[in-house]
Amino acid sequence: MGKATVVVGCAVAVAVGLAAAVVVRRRMKKEGKWGKAMGILKEFEEKCAIPVAKLKQVADAMTVEMHAGLASEGGSKLKMIISYVDCLPTGDEEGVYYALDLGGTNFRVLRVQLGGKGVGLVNQEFTEASIPPNLMTGTSDALFEYIAAELAKFVAQEGPEYKLPPGRQRELGFTFSFPVMQTSITSGTLLRWTKGFSIDDVVGQDVVAQLSKAMQKLGLDMCVSALVNDTVGTLAGGRYNNNDVVAAVILGTGSNAAYVERAQAIPKWHGPSKSGDMVINMEWGNFRSSHLPLTDYDHAMDAEGLNPGDQIYEKMISGMYLGEIIRRVLLRMAEETAIFGDTVPPKLKEPFVLRTPDTSAMHHDASSDLKVVDNKLKEVLEISNTSLRVRKIIVELCNIVATRGACLAAAGILGVLKKMGRDTLKDGDQQKTVIAMDGGLYEHYTEFSKCLENTLEELLGEDVFKSIVIEHANDGSGIGAALLAASHSKYLEDQS
Ligand code: ADP
Ligand code: MG
Repeated sequence: MGKATVVVGCAVAVAVGLAAAVVVRRRMKKEGKWGKAMGILKEFEEKCAIPVAKLKQVADAMTVEMHAGLASEGGSKLKMIISYVDCLPTGDEEGVYYALDLGGTNFRVLRVQLGGKGVGLVNQEFTEASIPPNLMTGTSDALFEYIAAELAKFVAQEGPEYKLPPGRQRELGFTFSFPVMQTSITSGTLLRWTKGFSIDDVVGQDVVAQLSKAMQKLGLDMCVSALVNDTVGTLAGGRYNNNDVVAAVILGTGSNAAYVERAQAIPKWHGPSKSGDMVINMEWGNFRSSHLPLTDYDHAMDAEGLNPGDQIYEKMISGMYLGEIIRRVLLRMAEETAIFGDTVPPKLKEPFVLRTPDTSAMHHDASSDLKVVDNKLKEVLEISNTSLRVRKIIVELCNIVATRGACLAAAGILGVLKKMGRDTLKDGDQQKTVIAMDGGLYEHYTEFSKCLENTLEELLGEDVFKSIVIEHANDGSGIGAALLAASHSKYLEDQS
């Protein structure tokens, strides 16, 4: 018994000694892996870094491209599309109008009752549905018939508080947030899809004609009175509430901006303008410049995506892509350093599985043990048992990607302000410059929007920044489209 005990005791001692050696070796291996993970993080951080001087170069490049895009068709990666919106809502609009907002993840239908001068918005109702993923890459008929059917359902629920004068057709403002070459306020052809849509038979076609065909097929008696995109709609919606709104920026699934330009300053435009102004849909998502801090992860995401080479700026700043960039960095860490264990978690290999709302939630995690990060990793990537150190790396990654995006978005806004001559203060001028902002990313990703505003202040300087108001125009694009349908109503012409 005593002997046996001794033997066992030795065995234990040996076992303990062996275990200690294994732990030490593992720790060394782990430190190695750890160091490598930190190395990947640091390298990524350095590549993403964008000091103020460089942001100013990005802003200048944006201004230069704006000029080039206005000078001639195809003169720049910025299309600087003429929206045909030459008069923005005044507040005098009256009647019942519909809007349909198709732009990415969600699709909204709304109706408004406008009370006219001094009354404003009397009633407003909306409904929201998501686009079934199979329709995003299916056929034109399938997509537009689905949309028209949703619209018809909504119209059928119109209550008596909405007063459509007898003999009038219902009018619709159609917000279609993809690059469209407008040919009038009620027509435009799709140049190409973005944000994950890819339906070949719509490209080059008139999108209003496609929608009208689908509405007719369903017997829906309604006409499109304004075709706009979300930035133009947001600008119009913003202007209805505040006369100083001169630009709109969307940061949602994708990103874009619109602003008010003097018609005379548009060399490629020779048409009329009721107000002397013209709203320009910049399609700024397609901006590109050698000053953009692109990393290997951005290049790979672009090359493997649906629209390689396009929308490079959008791919750095908008909601569809921020989570995916983070996933790519995490995948490399998992492959090269095994921070998530010896096998690479299979979920991490799925493109776009990590969405920006998830990375935003992780970034905002204020708990001391990063509980939200832990939960998200489990829920989205099926990764469990992460150490606090690993979770901290993930938060830092979210921070790097969001900061880069927010800084670049601020630089873009500075570029637009420069083009409008609103980046400096003029003597005695108390003029406010209001920018209407919208989109799920701007609305919900607080760290992102805070960083954007702080960066803009840093770029402009405190005094000029005081003249700039960044206003959240919640779902302004839908209401804006309805307002533009009202200000471009076909019945207005009949009256005049
Ligand atoms: P869309 O741009 O598709 O018209 P939204 O303006 O509502 O629609 O924006 C939706 C996008 O906003 C989502 O695709 C997502 O990228 C982003 N988003 C939504 N919620 C959050 C959130 N909590 N944090 C960060 N981004 C978010
Ligand atoms: Mg939208």
